[in-house]
Amino acid sequence: MSNFNIAIVGAGIGGLTAALGLSQKGFEVTIFEQAPELSEVGAGLTITPNATKGLRYLGIEEEVANIGMAHDLQGVRNYESGEIIVPLYRGKKMLEKYGAYQYQMHRADLHSLLADKLISINPESIHLNHECIDLSEGNDKVVLKFSNGKRFDFDFVIGADGNRSKIRNTILGDDDPQFSGYVAWRGLVPTSELSEGDFDECGSSAFIAPGRVFARYMVRNGDLYNYVAFLATDEWAEEGWSIRSEVGTLLETFADFNQQVKNIIRATPPDDCYKWGIFTREPAAKWSTSKVTLLGDAAHPTTPFMGQGAVMAIEDAVVLTRIIEQSNNPEEIIERYENARVERANFVMNHSRKAGERFTGNEPEKYSKEDHKNEEELGLFFYDPGTVEF
Ligand SMILES: Cc1cc2nc3c(=O)[nH]c(=O)nc-3n(C[C@H](O)[C@H](O)[C@H](O)COP(=O)(O)OP(=O)(O)OC[C@H]3O[C@@H](n4cnc5c(N)ncnc54)[C@H](O)[C@@H]3O)c2cc1C
Repeated sequence: MSNFNIAIVGAGIGGLTAALGLSQKGFEVTIFEQAPELSEVGAGLTITPNATKGLRYLGIEEEVANIGMAHDLQGVRNYESGEIIVPLYRGKKMLEKYGAYQYQMHRADLHSLLADKLISINPESIHLNHECIDLSEGNDKVVLKFSNGKRFDFDFVIGADGNRSKIRNTILGDDDPQFSGYVAWRGLVPTSELSEGDFDECGSSAFIAPGRVFARYMVRNGDLYNYVAFLATDEWAEEGWSIRSEVGTLLETFADFNQQVKNIIRATPPDDCYKWGIFTREPAAKWSTSKVTLLGDAAHPTTPFMGQGAVMAIEDAVVLTRIIEQSNNPEEIIERYENARVERANFVMNHSRKAGERFTGNEPEKYSKEDHKNEEELGLFFYDPGTVEF
């Protein structure tokens, strides 16, 4: 085992991916998570081929295939008629063109898979109930301080603590992220509660309307429909980021959508209806100091309209693992990592914002492939974090 001693703050998908990659390479990694138990939001996740290749690098592609669904057809559709405006061919086409499938899955399934793999290599690596509240950097070490009074020192620290990152706040000194102008409801609905008309040839669809999008796809072998419903709005007046909502409110907001959408919303378990304010930041040119860097949402919190947030976190984690494997000089690691990742992540942040504007524009019938490039047409899927040169 290498004696280069690394801490990761945050056991979300990004932090766990980095911890698994580095542990596989023989590094001593400690991952600190503020929550008392490992868990993920009850929602779906799209993993595009660029991230599937990252998970392949970790040797877990087969398990990912078992928890994911590779739908053949994804459609951008009219909200009233359900008519497909732009068909997006996925399934085997992704494998043929990009060398890996696109999968849609329950977020918790990927989160558990990463955690189980990590624990099987390094059973003591995850420290729960450890909320990092401060860090200080000396000549040799970085000291992390926790709200439970503990402190530890490390050679290198990775902040993977999400959108409201304490590590980012400490090293870059910037403010909290800003409301992006979108609210999202997320739901998981048992398909057994739905009737035949609620299913069609599109395993995955985004119904677009002025100011709103309803995206839905099946997960867990078709046992659940995952949906995310977006509303463009000026205000997020609520206290928290994620608050309980009412199925009735959601139904009202999407009352002019087609019957399939309304049936899916109606089948939401009443205790499971939550909404989120989507918060983001301006792209940053640097994510690091001399021995501390960031990955995932801590580095580049993006709007979710290209489904690339967790995907970028996986890419960051795999590239960072490969760089650390080649050098244990913190400054060299950071220079190579930022050179490899900042421009790409910022490109995704900028295009995700534009994608949101297009999806929620006033003339959904005019949405077309000619006017813009989506995440596939921008070439994002060709990237392989496991082999890319840096
Ligand atoms: C509606 C919606 C839909 C989305 N859909 C997709 C999609 O389909 N595909 C996709 O790729 N992305 C999607 N995303 C984006 C994706 O969810 C995020 O980009 C991704 O989860 C970021 O992972 P992360 O590990 O960087 O951060 P997080 O998942 O936020 O994990 C951060 C972890 O750090 C912990 N933490 C925070 N502060 C501290 C602290 N001080 N000390 C210790 N621990 C701490 C947290 O408890 C958490 O466990 C979506 C986002 C939204 C809002």
